[in-house]
Amino acid sequence: MNALLLSSSWRRNRLLVLCYHGTSIDDEHLWNSSFYVTPQWLQRRLEILQETRCQVLPLGEALQRLENGTLPPRAVAITYDDGTHDFYRRAYPVLKPFGFPVTVYLTTYYCGFNRPVFDPMCDYLLWKARPQTLHWPRLRSLPFTLDDAGRAQAGLALRGLANRESMTGQQKDQLLTALAGQLNLDYPSILAQRILHIMTPGEVREILHGGIDVQLHTHRHRVSNMRERFLREIDDNRHALAALGVPAASHFCYPGGFYLPEFPGWLQAAGIRSATTCQVDLISRNSNPFLLPRLVDHMNLSETEFTSWLSGLAGILPHRPMPPATGQLIEDQPQ
Ligand SMILES: [Zn+2]
Repeated sequence: MNALLLSSSWRRNRLLVLCYHGTSIDDEHLWNSSFYVTPQWLQRRLEILQETRCQVLPLGEALQRLENGTLPPRAVAITYDDGTHDFYRRAYPVLKPFGFPVTVYLTTYYCGFNRPVFDPMCDYLLWKARPQTLHWPRLRSLPFTLDDAGRAQAGLALRGLANRESMTGQQKDQLLTALAGQLNLDYPSILAQRILHIMTPGEVREILHGGIDVQLHTHRHRVSNMRERFLREIDDNRHALAALGVPAASHFCYPGGFYLPEFPGWLQAAGIRSATTCQVDLISRNSNPFLLPRLVDHMNLSETEFTSWLSGLAGILPHRPMPPATGQLIEDQPQ
């Protein structure tokens, strides 16, 4: 059934866009298997694309050819959200020998301020410290037990503190250092591995030179329901990308996969050509170019499920809701 569908004219008029986030430098996939895969797992996925003779196209070309009705059979595009350092260090070397075109949607605030991304690093440090307790009156008078529920509460308390005190990026970074100290973790070694960092400008230039396509994901990984602020995020992101050597980025990915009904019109007026979500489906000519679905692939998705998405079968059959519902990895940033 899969093989028949893969080569069908129905599938030929459709495009599957794959969405990835992180590739583990150390143990990140054990912490968050919805967002992190191992390099070996990624290698196997790329082999499946080769074995099934999927035709991996650059995102822009694939969308253009979908519109023109000239897609090749078994068309796939590969996208990475956020542009974390582990893309450069772990995913890029695995991807390179396959020669597949890849688009990275780069959020640029932490590219310039190259320190760990606050929200996920809070959660990662709390996870690393399990099963101890965290007793830090600055957060709460009672200690947090660092089981699943306790870590969620401690994470909320940390984010709440940063919001209440309107912390700058530097202040949030100091809070992370203080948290690691409270948890007795070897933070210098975590920092040295650049876990949960965004690529540096030099690393972005290097992947651009290697043929990776870099596109828009907002500067501070956030959207606003106010048009002016929404567009400012795109502008700031565009300027940062232009300074890195991407003068005309025009493809966008909603941070966290979140969107409101007014966003497509705003994006179109701003000269954006496409926008991707984290809703799962194949793209057809009837799809709204500013609400394009993707398959958020992750280690809990079996090879059978993956191949049935490649063929399109999974999109036709009723399918179970697939975690994660959104692509949220990186939090809002201060102005
Ligand atoms: Zn993102």
